[in-house]
Amino acid sequence: MSRHIRVDPILCDGFGQCAELLPELVELDEWGYPIVSDAPIPASLGAEARRAVAMCPRLALALEERRAREPAGAAP
Ligand code: SF4
Repeated sequence: MSRHIRVDPILCDGFGQCAELLPELVELDEWGYPIVSDAPIPASLGAEARRAVAMCPRLALALEERRAREPAGAAP
């Protein structure tokens, strides 16, 4: 399992607070809307990621657990 951050673009207001709180994983597009990294959140940034999610004024950020991908051709 790995933990990732994701954004709901419908809820987001594009003020970019998350990019200030978590610049390692969030950058802003040309309109100020966040582009979140698809990479797993490193353990060293876990607290900062939780803080960015908690501080989002629109509740548009979330943490998501993903299972590691099965190797191609693996038996079901
Ligand atoms: S803090 Fe929340 S509402 Fe603000 S830009 Fe980031 S995701 Fe959008």
